[in-house]
Amino acid sequence: MVEDNSLKKIAIVGGGTAGWVAASCIVRVLEQTDCEITLIESPEIGIIGVGEATIPSLVDFIYFLGIPEKEFIQETRSTFKLGIKFSNWRHIGHEYWHQFGVVGTDIDHKPFYQHWLKNKFHGDESEFTDFSPSVAMAKKGKFYIQPKDTRSNISGSEYAWHFDAGLVAKFLAGHAQKRGVRRIESTVSNVSLNESGAIQNLTLQDGSLVDADFFIDCTGQRGLLIGDALNVGYQDWSNYLPVNRALAIPTENEGPLNPYTHSIAHEHGWQWRIPLQHRTGNGYVYCNDFCSDEEAQQLLLNNIRGKPLAAPRVLKFQTGKRNKFWHKNCLSLGLSSGFLEPLESTGIYLSMKGALNFIQMLPNRDCDEATSNEYNRLMDIEYDCIRDFIVLHYCASQREDSDFWNMCQNLAIPESLQMKLALFKSQGRLMKNELDLFSQGSWYAVLEGMGIRPADYDRTIDASNFEKVKSITNKWLVSLDETVKKLPSHDAYVEQVCDLA
Ligand SMILES: Cc1cc2nc3c(=O)[nH]c(=O)nc-3n(C[C@H](O)[C@H](O)[C@H](O)COP(=O)(O)OP(=O)(O)OC[C@H]3O[C@@H](n4cnc5c(N)ncnc54)[C@H](O)[C@@H]3O)c2cc1C
Repeated sequence: MVEDNSLKKIAIVGGGTAGWVAASCIVRVLEQTDCEITLIESPEIGIIGVGEATIPSLVDFIYFLGIPEKEFIQETRSTFKLGIKFSNWRHIGHEYWHQFGVVGTDIDHKPFYQHWLKNKFHGDESEFTDFSPSVAMAKKGKFYIQPKDTRSNISGSEYAWHFDAGLVAKFLAGHAQKRGVRRIESTVSNVSLNESGAIQNLTLQDGSLVDADFFIDCTGQRGLLIGDALNVGYQDWSNYLPVNRALAIPTENEGPLNPYTHSIAHEHGWQWRIPLQHRTGNGYVYCNDFCSDEEAQQLLLNNIRGKPLAAPRVLKFQTGKRNKFWHKNCLSLGLSSGFLEPLESTGIYLSMKGALNFIQMLPNRDCDEATSNEYNRLMDIEYDCIRDFIVLHYCASQREDSDFWNMCQNLAIPESLQMKLALFKSQGRLMKNELDLFSQGSWYAVLEGMGIRPADYDRTIDASNFEKVKSITNKWLVSLDETVKKLPSHDAYVEQVCDLA
């Protein structure tokens, strides 16, 4: 008989989005086992309370947890997101979209982008993302979820949610506790290590001890376990991504709810606009070497719509990641493990992905290093790919109207991104990387949006009948337009989901 060496106690420290995402995910898998899951959160410290725009994988995650979508949307005051509209990024006055879901359709087994590019070289005036069903809906303020089993020209669209971060943490807390997660409200005042340097136990404010076989650090930027106690360092990526501050302010909703996140570049950074059912989240992300907090506040207040519902809050951050996400018997998730700035709404995704990878690689009590090494390798790839994608938005900008944007043109570019750009620039080919969160369609949209177009198209597509391709693409645009016209508005769809109509 093999000795049962499985984890019997897991302690999660931190009750922000990362903590409750981790707790919900782990209990989903370990509910029927004898493993106890405890989450400790400090009522004094509170949560960061931002993180309101998401990406489609989160919808799949909520399904995986067994949570009905309608209930989630109602409880977290969510709206739908079909992508991101970028204004003033390439240059002032320019706009482009980063869509969720497909753009066009492969023709003769070749990427749609290549066919579009050939058309473009022959004088076609369409934009690449005109062929995205999500963008077609977003531009017209429409929204509809096409049932999965029906074929339609909008079935390739995907969506995510905008939600209230505070309500999400609360909702997931209720969900996880119903499934058996024990919640302790207290502040961890000390972390003790054993003779092998792993975590032995935690001391709470009232002097009581919490011991566990495995600990998950979700203490946010503090990194109480992974950083303070285990001394795992943090790789600073501000040479690639120099923004380090954000101001956040909620406002009353004004006008229809846009089914997209709006990212507007300004003199020293960029502004977000995220519509929820009950308010709009606004923020300005900047680098304090170029702009004081007071200037940033003035700029944000000049560019919001609707009445402010609270005073602006300054949030400081450093882009980068932990040298190891998992060390000995401690895993870090959320802001304690790293942060890449919110431009592509990837923060909560990284917590979710980290929790899912962890549950797939659940260690035994000996926490063998081969398992943690593999986890760290996979999460390194996640972070590196997302970093490269975000850096692209900055380094490709043609703006020269401020010191901030001039600096962006001289930013360090990670070697992996340099290689990607070099390959792309000749014939629009992209390196294959199954572990990259962003699809080829996402890369094409942002490369084209930022004005990086290859010298030539992939000449192997000359084997396709050009006239036929042009006719297919023209018909696609017409039929997409006709379909979208008939769809409900985003506001009407949200009202219907929430039974408000
Ligand atoms: C400006 C900004 C904008 C962002 N926008 C987005 C976005 O649009 N989309 C997205 O996906 N992500 C976004 N993020 C990232 C997102 O906010 C985080 O990934 C997410 O909120 C997770 O935070 P967290 O749970 O790690 O930390 P926190 O919310 O800070 O939670 C930390 C928890 O640890 C607890 N804690 C700390 N110390 C102790 C202690 N000693 N004892 C006990 N408990 C303790 C606290 O009480 C709290 O419960 C954004 C981040 C920033 C900074």
